[in-house]
Amino acid sequence: MGQPFFSRPFYRPRPGAPLYCGKVSLEALARRYGTPLYVYSADQIRERLALFQAAFAGREHLVCYAVKANSALAILKLLAGRGAGFDIVSGGELERVLAAAPEAAGRVVFSGVGKTAAEIDLALEAGILAFNVESEAELHLLAERARKRKRRARFALRVNPDVFADTHPYISTGLREHKFGIDIRQAPKIYKNMARNRWLEAYGVSVHIGSQIRSAEPFGAAMERVSRLVEQLAREGVALHAIDAGGGLGIDYHAAGFDAAAKVTEYAAAMASALAGFHGSLLIEPGRFVIAQAGALVARVLYVKRNGKKTFVITDAAMNDLIRPALYQAHHEIAPVRLRAGKPRPVDVVGPVCESGDFFARDRNLAPVQPGDLLVLLDAGAYGMAQSSNYNTRPRAAEVLVEGARARIIRRRETISDLLAPESI
Ligand SMILES: *Cc1c(COP(=O)(O)O)cnc(C)c1O
Repeated sequence: MGQPFFSRPFYRPRPGAPLYCGKVSLEALARRYGTPLYVYSADQIRERLALFQAAFAGREHLVCYAVKANSALAILKLLAGRGAGFDIVSGGELERVLAAAPEAAGRVVFSGVGKTAAEIDLALEAGILAFNVESEAELHLLAERARKRKRRARFALRVNPDVFADTHPYISTGLREHKFGIDIRQAPKIYKNMARNRWLEAYGVSVHIGSQIRSAEPFGAAMERVSRLVEQLAREGVALHAIDAGGGLGIDYHAAGFDAAAKVTEYAAAMASALAGFHGSLLIEPGRFVIAQAGALVARVLYVKRNGKKTFVITDAAMNDLIRPALYQAHHEIAPVRLRAGKPRPVDVVGPVCESGDFFARDRNLAPVQPGDLLVLLDAGAYGMAQSSNYNTRPRAAEVLVEGARARIIRRRETISDLLAPESI
């Protein structure tokens, strides 16, 4: 955790100082807004979006931020203001985009294997850019809804390129055995059948091979298969305007020296060679890469207890706030906000939820901490708050967005009355 450099937005301004985000100390934020608290760096979010935009500047492109990674309205608005489009996977996410940045509706692509008629209608009315269609049956439903509402629908078939992406099995999606997409070998027939429908426009082809993919190579392999399909279709009379390469570019959850700019350059280069013969528009849908490292979860230590040989650090944040360690065995770096003297020792960092799976780290070397100290869980901006729940009737954390010296609350802490409100006895 070195210098105040956006690529590592949580840093100590000098040895012995507490951790800061931008020009704001995390101690001050925790005092003001309480814990558990999600803190995001607006500067880093902008920087990450700009990396993608710059890497593809040489061609027609659109960066469609994947809303499911973190759907905070303030973050969507910030990204829309910098020209981002959005990849959504539900009608609810579309409502979020419309609430935060209605002017961005025409830059939305709609993915997902189970779109309902009501969601399709909402998206047709909003005038989104394209539907990423995941089955032939969905395409028929889309045509019917488009006819009923007299709005032409642009679609891309989400094809399954059958490439192996080395990631956690729960977030790998590009193999034939997965529920996502349409077998790439069946796609030409479907395009040709549907090209005649006056309510549909064959806009593009899309893929998404998985998430947290660290190597650029599978993206290149997927683009080769997709561009071969686009060429074949062109020869057979279906001219597609766009290729949507999906998201999935991974970050390094371990290393402080992660070079995001180099990663994006490598990713763009792997795709560029595969797409050399394609002159249409390129869409990409990064989620994690844009937002993960911009965010951290700040928690307070409640207790430190020893059971036999083990030491447990019990925090006021739990798996309902950040489920990634429990769900994917994910690693998050953890650091005391203010360092105490003494040697790091192996501890388990756990939350108060009544599940043995409620842990953030096991046998992790952590500098000494005492009850009342603050801890930060780094790289928690993606799939953190977005996957939070009220399990154990725990109100969701508050969220703060930091821009330079200014911190503002973008989601207040939930109250117990928020949680009880929809219920009746
Ligand atoms: C989840 C998802 C993304 C974003 O994935 P990241 O790994 O966060 O970049 C993009 N496109 C689709 C279709 C998705 O389902």
